Amino acid sequence: MIPISIDKFTESYIKNNPKEKRQDIINSLKAAVAAKQDGVCCGQCGQPIWAVGTAIAGWNTCFTCLTGEADDSEDYEIDVVC
Ligand SMILES: [Zn+2]
Repeated sequence: MIPISIDKFTESYIKNNPKEKRQDIINSLKAAVAAKQDGVCCGQCGQPIWAVGTAIAGWNTCFTCLTGEADDSEDYEIDVVC
């Protein structure tokens, strides 16, 4: 995955989703990062969660379960848990 800071990810996410509130996104991302650091796993398959996907989806999920794709090389993950 491509590492990205919470600030940078939030900036690009808000650009694509202008109705979302910046602080809500930041809070969700921070919570997801903390969960991943705590060793929280995907609710479906038990893999480590994808912090970005978990923050956006609102439930503990890994990349594959959320996107249905196996290749995560071109997707972002928050730098501290990447
Ligand atoms: Zn999964």
